[in-house]
Amino acid sequence: MAGIKAQPGIMDIALYVSGESKLAGREDVLKLSANENPYGCSPAATAAFQSAAGDLHRYPATDHGPLRRAIGEVHGLDPDRIICGVGSDEVLQFVAQAYAGPGDEVITTQHGFSMYPILAHAVGALPITVAEHDRRIDVDAIINEVTGRTRIVFIANPANPTGTMLTDEELTRLAEGLPASCLLVHDGAYTEFADGFDGGASLVDRFPNVVMTRTFSKIHGLGGLRIGWGYARREVIDVLNRLRQPFNLSNAQMAAAEAAIRDTEFTAQCATENARLRRWMSEQLLQMGIDCDESHANFLLARFDSPEQAMACDAALRDAGIIVRLVASYGLPHALRITIGDEDGCRRVMAVISDFMADQR
Ligand code: PMP
Repeated sequence: MAGIKAQPGIMDIALYVSGESKLAGREDVLKLSANENPYGCSPAATAAFQSAAGDLHRYPATDHGPLRRAIGEVHGLDPDRIICGVGSDEVLQFVAQAYAGPGDEVITTQHGFSMYPILAHAVGALPITVAEHDRRIDVDAIINEVTGRTRIVFIANPANPTGTMLTDEELTRLAEGLPASCLLVHDGAYTEFADGFDGGASLVDRFPNVVMTRTFSKIHGLGGLRIGWGYARREVIDVLNRLRQPFNLSNAQMAAAEAAIRDTEFTAQCATENARLRRWMSEQLLQMGIDCDESHANFLLARFDSPEQAMACDAALRDAGIIVRLVASYGLPHALRITIGDEDGCRRVMAVISDFMADQR
């Protein structure tokens, strides 16, 4: 392929590395590395997906009307201010493409989600990483870093992989502290696991330059189907829609997502179980002498004494058929991120970690 060259900068983009899902030679793998829903998805979503199989020859609705209306009804939002994408990743990509370009700066934070710098690089912008404070996003540090070239600030709240959350006061201070020319992207992928939180919707309503993104991959258990959405001012949604392929979501994706979001009972049960088991697991970890911040998501960040100890624990878990996430690439080499599983999964992972810690003494 001599002579064919990629555009400048593309080879500088780090490939996204996702968690593994298999261990060689093992059938009984417990995957706690990708913050998936251990209860799967709503049975209504599976049924809707299957019935969409009768429509495979039909093009899907380009405007996602029924799905946007369902999201609007369930969350009390104007469907005309909603955009749907292939995972929230795609919505985040539209935002980067629309609002940042060569010479612009895009702010992300020290332990922020790894897609943000990838998206910035992909549009030729410069990602600027702002330090966090004790694994919490530091609002004042972000505001201090803003220059005349800053176009986007990306934050996840609750944050991945720390599980920490900003207070309402901090969120307001951040939105107020940004110039009108800079967009605040409030990524609410883990919103439903944070008690009583609206995912940033009210922030969008109060500030013209805020975009909220959400996903069907986490609490709705549809990670394999790839559906996400965003909520913003009409003007912003209009801009983003111009970048969207007309048929970006299939009939099956939309049917399953609509059924999933309408099954509010399933969503509430998943959130309740997650909160109960998260509490139990964090108490267990603390009793074993492993540090762990309060998490508002569906995972815990277990912090060990050293990177070597975190890696040794990861190896012990693998020997037992359990995959968790090493997060050294997020600037957290002492830590393992462990998705909250179902009751059996939580007991299984805690038993292995407990044995590992006993051996360390
Ligand atoms: N934002 C955050 C903070 C995430 O952790 C993830 C998934 N790991 C995403 C966005 C993307 O999710 P999806 O594209 O599956 O909606």
